[in-house]
Amino acid sequence: MEIFLDMDGTIADLYHVPGWLEKILAENPIPYATADPLPLVSELVRLRFNNLGIITWGSKGSTEEFLVKTKIAKIKWLEENFLRVNKVHCVHYGTPKFLFAEPGDILIDDEEANRKAWQDHIGPAYTPEEFTEILRGL
Ligand SMILES: [Mg+2]
Repeated sequence: MEIFLDMDGTIADLYHVPGWLEKILAENPIPYATADPLPLVSELVRLRFNNLGIITWGSKGSTEEFLVKTKIAKIKWLEENFLRVNKVHCVHYGTPKFLFAEPGDILIDDEEANRKAWQDHIGPAYTPEEFTEILRGL
């Protein structure tokens, strides 16, 4: 059983990086690497899970080349925030996340549509706030 994490808005506070959208539209991946960690990260690091994975999207309309830069920036972010994961699926915006999972895997994602599709195809899905609360009790 894998726990799959979304990144933007779930573990990485991308949307509060000043100028993040303009930079990303200009194919500058730095906001992905420099976003602050959200509260879920300290719980995940504390509990040292060995079954974490990432399923994250590139930007809307991203080129293949920028998607590669995005993945590199996101892997850097994971290293700098001490989050050890087994798999990083960094895929084009809108790709269904359940394509990368097996029945029983868990998704943590701030987007309701992703959670709903996951629940229909795979199994449990939680908001980052819900999962942070669950982990705080462990
Ligand atoms: Mg998200």
